[in-house]
Amino acid sequence: MKKDMHKSTSGRTSLVHDEPLIFERSVAGRSGHSLPETFGDPESALQHIPEYLLRKQPPILPEVDEPTVVRHFTRLSTWNHGIDSGMYPLGSCTMKYNPRINESLARLPGFCNLHPYLPIDLCQGALQLMWELADYLAEISGFDQVTLQPAAGAHGELTGIKMIRAYHKAKGNPRRRVLVPDTAHGTNPASSKLSGYDVIEIKSGPDGILMPAAVAQVMDQDIAAIMITNPNTLGLFESAISEISDIVHRAGGLVYCDGANLNSIMGITRPGDMGIDVLQFNLHKTFSTPHGGGGPGSGPVGVSAELAPYLPIPIIEKQADRFSLVESRPDSIGRIKGFYGNFAVMVRAYVYIRELGAPGLKKASEMAVLNANYIRARLEGTFDLPFPKRSMHEVVFSDKHLEELGVSTLDLAKCLLDHGFHPPTVYFPLVVHGALMIEPTETESLETLDEFVAAMLAIDQQARSDPQQVRSAPHHTVVGRLDEVKAAREPILKWTPANPEKK
Ligand SMILES: *Cc1c(COP(=O)(O)O)cnc(C)c1O
Repeated sequence: MKKDMHKSTSGRTSLVHDEPLIFERSVAGRSGHSLPETFGDPESALQHIPEYLLRKQPPILPEVDEPTVVRHFTRLSTWNHGIDSGMYPLGSCTMKYNPRINESLARLPGFCNLHPYLPIDLCQGALQLMWELADYLAEISGFDQVTLQPAAGAHGELTGIKMIRAYHKAKGNPRRRVLVPDTAHGTNPASSKLSGYDVIEIKSGPDGILMPAAVAQVMDQDIAAIMITNPNTLGLFESAISEISDIVHRAGGLVYCDGANLNSIMGITRPGDMGIDVLQFNLHKTFSTPHGGGGPGSGPVGVSAELAPYLPIPIIEKQADRFSLVESRPDSIGRIKGFYGNFAVMVRAYVYIRELGAPGLKKASEMAVLNANYIRARLEGTFDLPFPKRSMHEVVFSDKHLEELGVSTLDLAKCLLDHGFHPPTVYFPLVVHGALMIEPTETESLETLDEFVAAMLAIDQQARSDPQQVRSAPHHTVVGRLDEVKAAREPILKWTPANPEKK
């Protein structure tokens, strides 16, 4: 997009403002601050700094006044779609609306000013919160113990697989391979590989579900574990999970469950009761922390009693009313994160669980599943549904119908932006051609779901009457269709002044 410094700032439409780089708003001599005279003469202050530490030239910084800075960043913030501006039906990511109360409690001075080097007696409240949160998560999932340290889901997977390796090693043989279904999130094979295992992919059955026979066929003494996602990334419940667990256990292997999709089963069923040995939670998905764009996460890991000796250190212990951090655990896989994990995310999860209670968590899962099935029921007459089995928290359509109309999954995703919705996850899971993976979450109202369905149906109509309009969408966003190949191959990540000498 061509930027022009003197362009009107009123924007293209009433709400979407065009905005140049802040450097392009720079006016020589303009300043956003004023310092009192008593602050001292900057030149004389420079005398105290050794010559070799001084810049030869002043840094190139934009010279702008305060309102310009505020408006610049406020305008930019309107360019992105966020959960506060509309529904975000990104499958597998659980981008639900997060209650504001989580935020205010995570900001309590006692929590956010706490330093991790404080003596243990001065952080008893924080330790109590962590201890109780781990206890709630153990109860929700049916595990013996939970560590809160991992910083995200993938980090939790890595922690879990490292514990599985330590367990097998203690038995004399770490084994060499891990089984991963073809529907798995890419982090599953990556975590296995990083822990020194080779990955064997297992094909899911024609109904999108893993078949016990397929597992039995490859299971042997060299397989350390199977990594299952349940519900899987097709949004389907792995109904043979107990039978598969038995097959794996009989050959001495362990069952890892990717718990990123726990949003659909809280209070309804527990992974620990399905024969699963270890599972990671994604607090930033199920337990309501804003995420995306690299925001902080938390991937606690629950384990059965057999794996508990291998949990990372430190462990929080409670004796009488006092909490302490225990490091002396000879079989532990060691430390996997600085300090104790992302504490503020834990506060949000704790508040979320306390706020809803057991009945509320169950209702949240029921609503998440109901909402996904509502969208499915409203759209299945129009879009192609590759698997007939009832959906859990998300529904996956293929691009069969779109292809017939001459548009692609990507076109539909871009077109949704013009209707005010963030697109769903596209082209994942890989086993579905041109996948459209929709997860509405429990926080959206019936009216919003209806608006989303109406947008999807309107795009279908437009693809029939004027497919070129769909293929060239979006038309009402600040930035239109990007050249994605060029953006990936020739990224320009830094602003360079046209004439550096003059600056
Ligand atoms: C999000 C997700 C992960 C990875 O979690 P991160 O916190 O992004 O590392 C793993 N598996 C599934 C199924 C997921 O949806």
